[in-house]
Amino acid sequence: MRWQLGRRSTNVEDRRGMGAPTGMGMPGNLRLPRSRAGRAGGVGGIGIIVIALIAMFLGVDPSFLFQDGSMPGQSYQQSPQAPRSAAEEELREFVSVVLADTEDTWHVLFEQQGGTYQEPVLVLFSGSVESACGFASAAVGPFYCPGDRQVYIDLTFFQELSDRFGAPGDFAQAYVLAHEVGHHVQTLLGISDQVRSVRARLGEADANALSVQQELQADCFAGIWAHHADRSRQLLEQGDIEEGLRAASAIGDDRLQRQAQGYVVPESFTHGSSEQRMRWFQAGLAEGELSACDTFSADRL
Ligand SMILES: [Zn+2]
Repeated sequence: MRWQLGRRSTNVEDRRGMGAPTGMGMPGNLRLPRSRAGRAGGVGGIGIIVIALIAMFLGVDPSFLFQDGSMPGQSYQQSPQAPRSAAEEELREFVSVVLADTEDTWHVLFEQQGGTYQEPVLVLFSGSVESACGFASAAVGPFYCPGDRQVYIDLTFFQELSDRFGAPGDFAQAYVLAHEVGHHVQTLLGISDQVRSVRARLGEADANALSVQQELQADCFAGIWAHHADRSRQLLEQGDIEEGLRAASAIGDDRLQRQAQGYVVPESFTHGSSEQRMRWFQAGLAEGELSACDTFSADRL
């Protein structure tokens, strides 16, 4: 990809090097998911409440204890910042350019529909992270949390994508990010909510089938982004699409299941087969329009 001259997004939040949530010592500039505010904290949280009570008893306004207007709760203990390698810094730059390019793409497409695109925050973490969707270890891979509308990624996943899944290359990485942003678009369009409420009434096989439709649509949305990144900003180079397709294929459910258990159980698919994922990515890529991505009423998934 020709990404080096691209715009950098301001929506990247770097939580690398921060340990698991602890109690006190919340850095003032740290943006926490709103949903965490109401949750009771650990010992540190109780400690703050006790201090607040004492402060009130002494006639001191305790609100200064709660920065950002948040309730006493968890925060992050910043461990001494390990110096980042040039490669790590470059990866961060890359991610912020891809994110910015998805923003530019979806702003235009939403405006065409008379809407406004709300940009998601992309959280970089290392090891594990707390989101509105709960505690997650890096082992789950990159994910989007509709509860706080943020994309989460441990950048070491890209190494895994290359080494374990056999999908190297910058466009393979960009596809993964664009897929997660695709879930954000589904959330903004109300699709995710509809899927969730319908899923709740279905048996497991049908619920999985609906998940597949949702995932394939996110792949198709990633294709829409690639279409515009290519046509409007010439970000793509020879071989990029192949890298993206290799990634789409590598993380198909059938491939993952075969790797994990040696056989494939289609009813348990929640993301779609390798062939489906590649095909829907290509559908979005070819058209560059939302209308290309109606996986929910397609005759052939
Ligand atoms: Zn997904």
